[in-house]
Amino acid sequence: ISPTPYRGRFAPSPSGPLHFGSLFAAVVSYLDAKANQGQWLVRIEDLDPAREQAGASADILATLVAHGLEWDETETYQSDRLELYRANLNTLHQQERLFWCQCSRKDLSAHPVYPGTCSSQRQPVANAAVRFRVLTEQDRFIDRFQGLQVSAPRDQAGAVVVLRKDGLFAYQLAVVSDDIDQSINQVVRGIDILESVWWQRELYRALGAPLPRYGHFPVLLSPNSAQKLSKQNLSPAIQNATAGANLLRILQALGITLTPDSPHRLLQQAVACWREDPISFQLPLQSQNLRLD
Ligand code: GLU
Repeated sequence: ISPTPYRGRFAPSPSGPLHFGSLFAAVVSYLDAKANQGQWLVRIEDLDPAREQAGASADILATLVAHGLEWDETETYQSDRLELYRANLNTLHQQERLFWCQCSRKDLSAHPVYPGTCSSQRQPVANAAVRFRVLTEQDRFIDRFQGLQVSAPRDQAGAVVVLRKDGLFAYQLAVVSDDIDQSINQVVRGIDILESVWWQRELYRALGAPLPRYGHFPVLLSPNSAQKLSKQNLSPAIQNATAGANLLRILQALGITLTPDSPHRLLQQAVACWREDPISFQLPLQSQNLRLD
């Protein structure tokens, strides 16, 4: 029996051009996929028009190409896939896993976990978000980089929004629907999303799909500061003209030291290192954060 082929993905939100933190996410997920003879897909998570920056999707794709990060299959856009999310929402409704919630942000601000206020409202009402009930009492899995993760999802995560009050599908439902539909079996992404994993695992179970393996890698910190590199702290957009140098910096943070070369050749060498000695190259990924020099 041949093992299931690896299928991974990079799923940027087009809220701006790629910065070092998001390019790092692309590189790590790419290297891991290619070192495992896998496919690497790109999906643009463009469900929230208000957070989208005009031209950002094209910009992101151009940056990936400039850095030699070529994806398999045609890139997908979540905005084209609303029927899938709607169908899964209906499935969850038929299973009586949904309720309609009129709580405001203010109503909930004092509660770290959704307190269950509207959980008996099982039929649609106006001006409400739709929440998904979490039933699993104990869950655990081994994260490839962070090790054993344990939670009591019903009590510690609580019911999560799957359709927002404004009618937009929420990230949790969309990401799981797409990963199932695209047969993604390896999810490699930043540790900042680790807290969402319990809701996502619950959605896989409710939708009757096999769970993927997960690897949550550290957040990249900017040089000389403890700040996470993100769009919010205005970390500068990536310059495609210095693609080789950008890759060298990112690979260096992973403990892979190479001499200057073209992006394609740098990636090839990094994949070879990863394949020959996955453990030592993955060691830096076990920390909570990494610094970019
Ligand atoms: N679109 C999400 C982001 O840009 C990533 C989602 C994921 O990898 O699950 O943060």
